[in-house]
Amino acid sequence: MDDLLITAVKAVQSASQICQQIQAQLVHEDSLTKNDRSPVTVADFASQAVICKTLKEHFPDIPIVGEEDADSLRQEENETLLNKIASFLPDWKTEEILDQIDQGNGEAASLFWTLDPIDGTKGFLRGDQYAVALALIHGYKVVMGVLGCPNLPFEEESADGTIMYASKGGGAFARAMNGSRTREAHVSQNSISDTVRFLESVESGHANHGLQGQVMGKLGDRAQSVRYDSQVKYAVLAQSMADVYLRLPSVSKPDYREKIWDHAAGLAVVEEAGGKVTDMSGKDLDFSSGKKLINNRGVIVTNGKLHQQIIDMVNE
Ligand code: AMP
Ligand code: MG
Repeated sequence: MDDLLITAVKAVQSASQICQQIQAQLVHEDSLTKNDRSPVTVADFASQAVICKTLKEHFPDIPIVGEEDADSLRQEENETLLNKIASFLPDWKTEEILDQIDQGNGEAASLFWTLDPIDGTKGFLRGDQYAVALALIHGYKVVMGVLGCPNLPFEEESADGTIMYASKGGGAFARAMNGSRTREAHVSQNSISDTVRFLESVESGHANHGLQGQVMGKLGDRAQSVRYDSQVKYAVLAQSMADVYLRLPSVSKPDYREKIWDHAAGLAVVEEAGGKVTDMSGKDLDFSSGKKLINNRGVIVTNGKLHQQIIDMVNE
């Protein structure tokens, strides 16, 4: 593994462990509602601070395009929240926490990191799945991705979560969150005549469950569906535990543009595991336009083998 990947995995592992600790003792007062009405918690902020600090220590010149900023935390009314974050980062001064979070306000460049410190915050608040997602983008292509999935068991019956990582040409791997074991990750080999296991979002506002149901309906009782929050869906598919992830634009926001940090890390992991990621028309995701995938609508992820048939079914 090269330095970039070693550092990225280490950063995501530390942040994931803190998120796990926070989720176990989360109370209502630990979250805020952002301007776009989405929630953010002490864990989102702590995770972004920890990852930015590690990345900037090793690679000070690579900008980080992260989801969060510290503006709201600098307001007096949120002092309790800031102190709560500090309680999980015992060696940090509060000023350092704010500054490190704001290191994540970099601009997209020829080489940059993109970070979702907690992807699936709604799942995190429910006590369900979420992911810590970090990717490296070079020349508008995703060249590395790390997904911390604290609630995705590394082995059946195991309490330990999973970290997935991949770099371009280097394969995809699943590692126990405690670092004890690592194995290669490969997508399934299922074809359209097998049972096809679909993944969808939990939140109905994030996708068109109705239309997705109609697509699956074409396969009759050969279609199965499971709902997970966050890029955990990519981690599940990359390990052969599902075959297709459908994310068709929701009815309430048909013109929604996906954020780069919601897909970059997952894309790296799934592609290196042998799968394929495009938008709903079959176009590659275009990471050349800053924070949003403005040239794409919807996202479809498959084991590769099924890709064209699923695209055709969606567009029929
Ligand atoms: P998921 O858990 O897969 O549903 O994805 C969570 C992500 O959905 C969040 O990080 C948001 O950035 C993103 N999101 C918010 N609103 C929408 C929307 N209308 N369509 C698609 N994604 C959305
Ligand atoms: Mg997200």
